[in-house]
Amino acid sequence: MRSPKTAFVTGGASGIGRALATALAAKGVAVTVADLVAPDLRGMEHVELDVTSAEAVASAVRAVRQRHGRLDFVFNNAGIAVGGHAEELTLDHWNRAIDVNLRGVVHGVHAAYPIMIEQGYGHIVNTASMAGLVPAPLMLPYTASKHAVVGLSMALRAEAAAHGVRVSVVCPGFIDTPLLDNANPGLPYTETGAQARDAAVMAQGRLYPVESLAADILRGVARNRALIVAPASARLAWRAARLSPSGAIRAAALAIRRVSPPPKRT
Ligand code: NAD
Repeated sequence: MRSPKTAFVTGGASGIGRALATALAAKGVAVTVADLVAPDLRGMEHVELDVTSAEAVASAVRAVRQRHGRLDFVFNNAGIAVGGHAEELTLDHWNRAIDVNLRGVVHGVHAAYPIMIEQGYGHIVNTASMAGLVPAPLMLPYTASKHAVVGLSMALRAEAAAHGVRVSVVCPGFIDTPLLDNANPGLPYTETGAQARDAAVMAQGRLYPVESLAADILRGVARNRALIVAPASARLAWRAARLSPSGAIRAAALAIRRVSPPPKRT
């Protein structure tokens, strides 16, 4: 009997990762959830790790291959929201976003890609954001890290095809997850960070349900899409930004005025 396909999902204890892990398990995929915290999910393996540790990620990815004899999907999804007006941000804000959102993805790719090359198959799916495609103000460290994840993923996809390995990048708009209530975790307070959920609702209207996004992602993965952008409003914003980059910056500047004028100087 052939062993079931496997998936390794970082940030799988909450939000998008949790919905992905649940949907994959329902399809009969053997899922390993990797997160800072233990997930309350049944029927899945889990490993508590911090994606900022290259060694921890590498050893967890290797363990999936060893246990099941195959590594089909790696979802580099763990991430944190970091935001505030640029002048309020400390270097810790910048470094933390880069460490978790970019280095976390790098560590997953670095661990999984050689294994997938050796197998001659596998699919790496990195979670970036709409903030990786359009100018997203008031969250510069986040935006910078997510643009990097988009660039990394698209370029890797071009290389990986020759090895039979697939790479996709997910760029969601605002999704209804705990991330929006927990911006700047362990970092200095900023008012914009504290109001992330309100700002998201103001920017997008209704927040997109996480289960709908997970279904969109798995459909995109099955079709081997390079870029998976959802919901439809995010695809529209992305298209508009490509048509007129300067128009997108003007729209972003207007959004700042609505969402959060700069803090007053004392
Ligand atoms: P979430 O907060 O619900 O879940 C994130 C999970 O990642 C949590 O379980 C958390 O414990 C884990 N995590 C955080 N730092 C970690 C670390 N260093 N090591 C291991 N695990 C860690 O957030 P979410 O909304 O599901 O976000 C998932 C991904 O989607 C993130 O990369 C985020 O940037 C991206 N994203 C979210 C939205 C949104 O609106 N929610 C929009 C676009 C992109």
